[in-house]
Amino acid sequence: MSWVRIDDHATEHPKMLEAGMKACALWLSCLCYCSRELTDGFVTVSAMRKMGGRAWKVLAQRLLDVRLLECDGEDYRVHQYLDYQLSAEEVRRQRDRKYEAKRNRRARTHGAGGTLSRVEWSAIVARHDGRCVYCGQALPDLTQDHAIPLSRGGRHEGSNVVPACRSCNSRKHTKTADEFRSAHGPS
Ligand SMILES: [Zn+2]
Repeated sequence: MSWVRIDDHATEHPKMLEAGMKACALWLSCLCYCSRELTDGFVTVSAMRKMGGRAWKVLAQRLLDVRLLECDGEDYRVHQYLDYQLSAEEVRRQRDRKYEAKRNRRARTHGAGGTLSRVEWSAIVARHDGRCVYCGQALPDLTQDHAIPLSRGGRHEGSNVVPACRSCNSRKHTKTADEFRSAHGPS
């Protein structure tokens, strides 16, 4: 989950008052949608239809009239979205940073040596073609697996970390990579 930022005078802003509360509610839905889906302010016409209900077209037009919304071809764009909200890239970078910190913290609490930076991790994923080393699936959200688990003395560093999908990683649990492979046949 993340947050959207709304100016605390928003509800008194002349644009809002002119557009009316129903249109404002749609504008708020648009902000949440863009933040959730990481669209950088872009709203497809089908998403708008779903969020706006039966009166979506009238409400969207009101938002266009007061310039809280802009047309983007057939679709829409929230006016000045990126001036106030985080871009998709910034959100992804923040998530990566949190993941890195969490993994390094976890390694420390296991008394395991080593650290792994985001750059090293990206290189490891690239070296494996973005695939899980166990089942070969290409996924955008591969997890860091320790070939020798931390609980068995493995280090949290590049030479001991491989990309694995969530399913393989949790099934492998405290097995070593070799034990897991021989338990599940050749991958
Ligand atoms: Zn897998």
